[in-house]
Amino acid sequence: MDIKKVHIVIPIVMAGIIGYLGTKIMDIKEVHILIPIVMAGIIGYLGQTDLNEAFSVLPSIPHISRPSSQPVRQVDLDETSLVISRQTDLNEAFSVLPRMSYPQPFVDKPQRTDVLLMSPWLAPIMWEGTFNRDILNAQYRQKKFVVGVATFAVKKYVRFIEGFLGSANKFFLSGHRVNFYLFTDHPEKVPSMKLAPEKSLFIIPVQNYSRWQDISMNRMDIISNRIRTHWHYEVDYLYSMDIDVQMFEHIGVEIIDTLVGTISSWQYTKPRDSNSYERRPESRAAIPSGEGDFYYAASFYGGSVSEVYKLTTACFKGVTEDRANGIEAKWHEESHLNKYLLYHKPTRLLSPEYYWDEELPRPQIIRVKRLSSVRKDLEEVRS
Ligand code: UDP
Ligand code: MN
Repeated sequence: MDIKKVHIVIPIVMAGIIGYLGTKIMDIKEVHILIPIVMAGIIGYLGQTDLNEAFSVLPSIPHISRPSSQPVRQVDLDETSLVISRQTDLNEAFSVLPRMSYPQPFVDKPQRTDVLLMSPWLAPIMWEGTFNRDILNAQYRQKKFVVGVATFAVKKYVRFIEGFLGSANKFFLSGHRVNFYLFTDHPEKVPSMKLAPEKSLFIIPVQNYSRWQDISMNRMDIISNRIRTHWHYEVDYLYSMDIDVQMFEHIGVEIIDTLVGTISSWQYTKPRDSNSYERRPESRAAIPSGEGDFYYAASFYGGSVSEVYKLTTACFKGVTEDRANGIEAKWHEESHLNKYLLYHKPTRLLSPEYYWDEELPRPQIIRVKRLSSVRKDLEEVRS
């Protein structure tokens, strides 16, 4: 039977049963038969309408390659926010976890005492040694999420594609569905690579800009537009990552949350007034002196597709207003990202393990280097 009919028939059958029981218990026959039938009609009608919406034909998406499965869902959009109807709370899955054996946690035995595990607004900070990947994977698997990764390889940065994709294929959300969206002005230079079956690559042509700062900043605009036109159909979570990086250890589902920022490896010990925030009040990225939590890296951030839409739209609005006012923030879109995340607190933070700068010596608290920037001759590669 077709699903629409089920939604009409089930309420009618239920109504019949209720009506019948009603007549058995009380004697007001007509009312008890009539009310459920009218209610059944209304429920059946509403059920049919919702399903019609849910199963409506989605617009075709012009990719070079397409995802093998159907888009996840369709949601309503307006200019400033995405309305996601689906609950994306990982805790929901706890009740159906398989039986597992793992060391017992104790409240008086913290996993690590050498690092901050929780921000003052109770967002967990991801550090090696503080979580059990098997439990997280089991929770996550119930949800069948699709994660998107947006990355750009414009001009000479095409040289980083192979290292990025090769390592991400192995270490990024291993065993889980990931769509890599690679924006490039040289689609013909993308090396052909065999990816794991649950990973897909989408190559999206994009124009280049003469200034590297514009390539970097415009990522926010391109991501925001692409969410509005495509990604909100295709993925549940979205992460933006630099292409000039390589992964050396697993980056798993511990990164999944509503709004996620990565703490910069350069500035994680610096007092707020000596780090790299934009402080000039003329810039839309300005953070007043005396304010600031962590310094976040623009090389790796993400979250639910609706939160990343809000973030990228707001940050690019700041970039555009700065351009109109003849000012450019100190660290470009990273400055705008830092302002945004100060006033929209991330729900989860990635420790500097998740973006360790290759040039830095590694202190003891960084037990693993999951992802690292690739050394580059800045002047040569950006020319
Ligand atoms: N980018 C690019 N081509 C350029 C400059 C930048 O594709 O000519 C993209 C690329 O994805 C890169 C990101 O913008 O990873 C940020 O730039 P970059 O890595 O140079 O900034 P850094 O990490 O050195 O601050
Ligand atoms: Mn980079």
